[in-house]
Amino acid sequence: MDIYKGRLEIICGSMFCGKSEELIRRLRRAQIARKNVLVFKHCLDNRATLEHVVSHNGTTIRAFPIDDHTEILRLITPEIDVVGIDEVQFFDPTIVATILELVDKKKRVIAAGLDLDFRGIPFGSMPPLLAVADSVIKLKAICMTCGNDAHFTQRLVNGQPAKFSDPIVQIGAEECYEARCRECFRIDRRPKVSYEQSNF
Ligand code: ZN
Repeated sequence: MDIYKGRLEIICGSMFCGKSEELIRRLRRAQIARKNVLVFKHCLDNRATLEHVVSHNGTTIRAFPIDDHTEILRLITPEIDVVGIDEVQFFDPTIVATILELVDKKKRVIAAGLDLDFRGIPFGSMPPLLAVADSVIKLKAICMTCGNDAHFTQRLVNGQPAKFSDPIVQIGAEECYEARCRECFRIDRRPKVSYEQSNF
């Protein structure tokens, strides 16, 4: 099988699980294989630099900051083999169609994103992306309370667990987040309420 003939790989998990690090590792390997790689990140994510994807362990790769995912289709050329997308959960959910169009154009698309928001609810376009992907890896962080494997992102406001009704997106306040296991994750309402109300 030629993995450069149209496929979608999703890297998901909580904050601090190494998603960006894994994304960069795969993109670097493609570059070593002399594939043409183009990388995008949501420009809402300004935690380090607008021109790079930066992992928490400091590795970087050059990336185009965009907020409209249809820009990807405009910037892509036939010479591009591999498309990387970081923080994919921040894009409008219609990015699913854009990504499938890239796959139809025989691109290898590798996208990394949070699968759950701070309330423990599936994040934006992640559920359909996980479903249509050729491969999915769910990375685990370490629970900052007990040390077990963690796949929840705990938001803390003034040291206290955030409320269910808080806004979903709050960028650049990393000290307000911790990786937590299911046992140590705290939220004031059960996510089930929103599963019933949402229409993803
Ligand atoms: Zn724990």
